[in-house]
Amino acid sequence: MLKIEHLSFQYSRRSLPVLRDVSLELPAGQIGMLLGKNGAGKTTLFKIILGLLTPSEGRIELDGEDILSMPLRERARRIAYVPQHIHFGELSVYDSILMGRVSYFGLKAGTADHNAVEEIIREMGMEEFADRNAEHLSGGEKQKIAIARAMAQNPKLLVLDEPTGNLDISNEDLIITEAKALAEKKKISIISSMHDLNQALYMGDHFYFLKDGKIRCSGKEDIITEELIKEVYGIDSRIIAYENKKIILGGKHYV
Ligand code: ADP
Repeated sequence: MLKIEHLSFQYSRRSLPVLRDVSLELPAGQIGMLLGKNGAGKTTLFKIILGLLTPSEGRIELDGEDILSMPLRERARRIAYVPQHIHFGELSVYDSILMGRVSYFGLKAGTADHNAVEEIIREMGMEEFADRNAEHLSGGEKQKIAIARAMAQNPKLLVLDEPTGNLDISNEDLIITEAKALAEKKKISIISSMHDLNQALYMGDHFYFLKDGKIRCSGKEDIITEELIKEVYGIDSRIIAYENKKIILGGKHYV
């Protein structure tokens, strides 16, 4: 369970707070979507979770442990991050995933590290391209390797920054399916940002809408209404039902 309580942050003493009294909860094995316009504070919140920024107030607990007071190396074993753009250099897929074990092995990988990598490769069905150069694979495959590398850390929390940002529709589907399977199988919590609200609806269990650094509304899918979208994004939208699923049609074309 990820629990964020009363978190506030400002980049400098003279600037306005970017996050104001942010609280949220995300149970283990579930996917939380952090949503909101550009500049709402999503990346800032991720950076605080990852230990790159220090909040002025608040607490973050992961399975009951206070992660803000934890040494970074300890935090790195519990929280893994998948950035939007990733470069693997000249590493093979196998070695790229092995890099996820760095916080465990220090200088040289041992048997436990190799076993962990082999298990993830098997679980994520990546055996065929384990020996290939990671840089030569498609965008979706690279993103999958980045997730596999994060999983090699054996984290309790996975932070995904726009995981489908640059992908075509088939690769988007691949990554969302993979994320859902990992959350369910491994019982890890996943927190992710996403611009596309329909993808967010498809991927997420919980939704947190940030506006001007505050959580405007959070909860399950039923909180997502045309009024909320208007308030958070400032646009008119239509929400329609298709086979019991919500589809959001946003913007002037539809309304
Ligand atoms: P999002 O990820 O939701 O687009 P960010 O967390 O990147 O939002 O930004 C939130 C606010 O913080 C924005 O107003 C942005 O201009 C400001 N901000 C981001 N990074 C910095 C920084 N390094 N110094 C000062 N202000 C920043």
